[in-house]
Amino acid sequence: MIFDSIIIGAGIAGASVAQALAPHQRVLILEREAFPGYHTTGRSNAFWHATYGGPAVAPLTLASRATLETPPAALSDHGFLKARGALTLARADQDGALLAMEAAYTGNEIAFERVGREALEGMIPGLKPGWDHALVEPECFDIDVAGYHAACLGSARRQGAQLVTRAEPLAISRDNGLWTIETRQGRYSGAVLVNAAGAWADPVAEQAGARPIGIQPYRRTIAQLDLTTPIPPDMPFVIDVAGQFYFRPEGPTKLWLSPHDETPSPPCDAAPEELDIAIAIDRLSHVTDWGVRRVERSWAGLRSFAPDRKPVFGFDPACEGLFWCAGQGGFGIQTAPAAAALCASLILGDRRLCPAGVKAEDYAPSRTR
Ligand SMILES: Cc1cc2nc3c(=O)[nH]c(=O)nc-3n(C[C@H](O)[C@H](O)[C@H](O)COP(=O)(O)OP(=O)(O)OC[C@H]3O[C@@H](n4cnc5c(N)ncnc54)[C@H](O)[C@@H]3O)c2cc1C
Repeated sequence: MIFDSIIIGAGIAGASVAQALAPHQRVLILEREAFPGYHTTGRSNAFWHATYGGPAVAPLTLASRATLETPPAALSDHGFLKARGALTLARADQDGALLAMEAAYTGNEIAFERVGREALEGMIPGLKPGWDHALVEPECFDIDVAGYHAACLGSARRQGAQLVTRAEPLAISRDNGLWTIETRQGRYSGAVLVNAAGAWADPVAEQAGARPIGIQPYRRTIAQLDLTTPIPPDMPFVIDVAGQFYFRPEGPTKLWLSPHDETPSPPCDAAPEELDIAIAIDRLSHVTDWGVRRVERSWAGLRSFAPDRKPVFGFDPACEGLFWCAGQGGFGIQTAPAAAALCASLILGDRRLCPAGVKAEDYAPSRTR
């Protein structure tokens, strides 16, 4: 069979694009690993945060909320979001940074609330002195990432898409308007090659004969702590305005904590480093008086960015038939529904599929050349 689109990578990017294309096209996903979701998609903080990624990303995040909250019947009979507020925390001397953050999102439909020390003590028991200001975003959510990823793959499959695992391309060639991809599982042909390879987006593009964009993976670490101090399970997601840490409850004494690290890395199976976990716990000790009984588990994943830190969606201007779906950084889950709809609209040449409020030119690969 000749496919219309062959997608490389079955993380959330590849799975959601497959789901968006499947009603219209013959779609194949080739995944190198034995299981889809093994890399960055399976290692996230699982949070929908309207301001995360900056103002250029917010239109994609906002346009994704409806699908994640109330998915179409073909995707799921239940939503993937659970309400939890978010709070950007600042010390007295960092108030200017909070004001700048608020100003950056003016006119973006994002609900903000300024709170001071008294309100903060009610929200974060044990908050140490000096943390006096915060910007609360009441409308943020935990995301059921595994549920959404599985729903995308299931829906794509029901609509005819095929997924082949352990199928890394050994050679990619193009002839007469068709890509041919050799893998250990067989040879496949298709008109469009969708590069949704996450941290491997540049190497895959080079294999297809295109110039790399400069997609750089960075390691990010999360540790699950068992605390000696109970914390409210409905406590907001807390991030500091200087980008030194974030945390959120995962149970009455369980906390997910990150040092907000961003260590450049080659594409790989990322693993956490003891030092990053120690740094995270040290930073937490300057914010709250919570005791840490033990680190229960920890993990790391690669967040991959284009040089301007905006995602890259669109056909390569110099390599016919190569479509980029890459550079989703730390926001690839919360933006996936809108990003997938945008990608489908560009691949199918149907502007009606492009989500309202999203401008395709903002994310076009041509801006990177
Ligand atoms: C610690 C951490 C916290 C995060 N928190 C959040 C959050 O709260 N909210 C949010 O929205 N986002 C978050 N993110 C970001 C989000 O997880 C990513 O943006 C998203 O998962 C990227 O999805 P992807 O499909 O592009 O990449 P991946 O999930 O890495 O998928 C790429 C796939 O391509 C496959 N592949 C690569 N090369 C080849 C090849 N040659 N042949 C075949 N297959 C190949 C890989 O095996 C992989 O399965 C976080 C990330 C990290 C690391």
